[in-house]
Amino acid sequence: MLLWKSIAFGPIQSRRLGKSLGINLLDTKKKICSFNCIYCECGWTEEKKLTDCLYYPLADVLQSIEEKLIDCRKNGMKIDSITFSGNGEPTLHPEFGEIVTELLRLRAQYYPQAVITCLSNATQLHRIDVREALYKIENPMLKLDAGTEDYFQLINAPTTTITLVEIMRYLSDFQGNLIIQTLFLKGVVKEIAFDNSSEPHFSAWLNHIQSINLKKLYIYSLDRVTPVRHLVKFSYEELEPIADKIRAFGLDVGVY
Ligand code: SF4
Repeated sequence: MLLWKSIAFGPIQSRRLGKSLGINLLDTKKKICSFNCIYCECGWTEEKKLTDCLYYPLADVLQSIEEKLIDCRKNGMKIDSITFSGNGEPTLHPEFGEIVTELLRLRAQYYPQAVITCLSNATQLHRIDVREALYKIENPMLKLDAGTEDYFQLINAPTTTITLVEIMRYLSDFQGNLIIQTLFLKGVVKEIAFDNSSEPHFSAWLNHIQSINLKKLYIYSLDRVTPVRHLVKFSYEELEPIADKIRAFGLDVGVY
């Protein structure tokens, strides 16, 4: 399973973001997440007590990022996006708000043309510091894979008591500067056959999407090894008709 070995990594070539400099705020030895998605490329979430996890101190995070930015600039490397991703859910870091504030300063100093992106599962939006930090960056890219509570629990398997209703309440607060990404897949989990492009789940999901003020929707499918075996990937040819159904409602949809 894929785990990043440092705080700052890359830049790597991203299909959506171009040259992306990754920022991993989480333990480099294990995944830390508030979800346990059946398709997670980092493997299963073993750490259940999220407050006891290793979160790198603010000073260490900033030092790593600054050193990486200096090194990239010295070597003439292009950076299109500075991207919070890594070994789990970045917004779990208790100092996420401060990190974003300082990253905005570092970005202005070293790579003012780069955008800041955060790949997030949206479970920490109840925290005002997380919401305010995400409002300040160009690309808050939040996950919404399910339209119904049973598929949310099946596919994303939160490690806390959070519900889809709670997530939707906060996603609806974004005023247009929001990107949603949805992974389409099917298969059998816990002896339950599922397909999140099937009805009534797809229509429920589309209703949620239409209720959010977003600037872009990305849909995609499996790309790497998953902890649950026998999940079925949607091909590009299968995703495009799904995208067309959504585009009919006037939404900007990218398939990758
Ligand atoms: S939210 Fe992301 S890191 Fe967390 S379990 Fe799901 S895919 Fe993995």
